[in-house]
This record gives sequence, structure tokens and C-alpha cells, in this order.
Amino acid sequence: MRIIIIFISIYKIENIKMTITKGKILLKRTDKINYYLDIAETVLERGTCLRRNYGAIIVKNDEIIATGYTGAPRGRKNCSDLGYCRREQLNVKRGTQYELSRSVHAEANAIISASRRDMIGSDLYLVGHDAKTGEYVENANSCTMCKRLIINSGIERVIIRDNKEDYRIIPVLEWIENDDSLDGDGSY
Ligand SMILES: [Zn+2]
Ligand SMILES: [Zn+2]
Repeated sequence: MRIIIIFISIYKIENIKMTITKGKILLKRTDKINYYLDIAETVLERGTCLRRNYGAIIVKNDEIIATGYTGAPRGRKNCSDLGYCRREQLNVKRGTQYELSRSVHAEANAIISASRRDMIGSDLYLVGHDAKTGEYVENANSCTMCKRLIINSGIERVIIRDNKEDYRIIPVLEWIENDDSLDGDGSY
């Protein structure tokens, strides 16, 4: 009886991770995509922007070959050092006027720390948080500038987290065929 109670309490605490089948506790493994998204989400914790922070990891043949998060170029002051985000101060519309952004984006930081040879055919995992609420960025996506870098890096798919379980898998080919630099104002 006591054993059963212990089992039930473990199940309650960790009910996402455990299931009980015929008295045996079985570990529910995180699927591989969410595993990499979890890592990208940890990477974003290093981000320094006061508006939005992203974490990106590039994975090839089940190996993480690069990581990147939102931050000012090395040696320059971050939004978090200044105490304000310039894009926010100027009320810049989401996805536009990236020349006003002080940060190197997560995807760009990951790409510049890997070689193209390694990135060909790889996946980039991307997670974004609103810096103030800590919530996932709604409809998160790479900006028009990062899309260009991703296309030229040879990355094949971009996997973006919508919430703890849901994500979108975007074939980079889609960004080549639907060229957003030909229409729209760059916002999304
Ligand atoms: Zn900022
Ligand atoms: Zn970007």
C-alpha cells in the first residue's frame, strides 16, 4: 500500500515525465525536437535585450555545432547595460528597421560561430521570449536579415517553438521561394 502511495506521489509531482504501467514507472522521454528546443530556450537566458530575447542552436547529425543568443556586438554595451532598448525607445515596429537594433541576433551569432561546411543540411532551433513577461514570442520567426544569413549558411530547416509542446518546422526553401524582400515592409 505504501509503495502505491509513493508511486502516486511521484506521478503527481512529475506527471509530465512519468507514467505508471502495471505498477512500473516508465520514464516518458522528451522527443528529440523538444529536447533541442529546450536547449535553445536555455541559451536565450543569456540574452541581453530588454524587449525580446532569442536563443538559437544549430544541429547537424545530432550534434550541436553552434549556439547563439541576442546580444550587442562584443565589447559594446548591451540593452541590459544601458537600461533601455533603443528599438523600444523609438517604438520600432516588430520586424522592421533592424539597422536601429544594437543586437546581433541569436541566429546570426550561431551562424558566425560555425563553418558553412558544417551548416549545410543542418537544422536551426529557435526560441524567443518577451523580455518583460517571459512568455513565448507569438508567431516567432527569423527577421528578414537573419533569413538571408540562414539561406546562405546552408541550413536546411528552421524549427521554431510556439509553446512547450508545439513548434513549426520551416524548410528554408520556403523562404527562397517566397521572397519577402520583394513585398511587404519586413514586419511579421
Ligand atoms: Zn534591445
Ligand atoms: Zn534576426
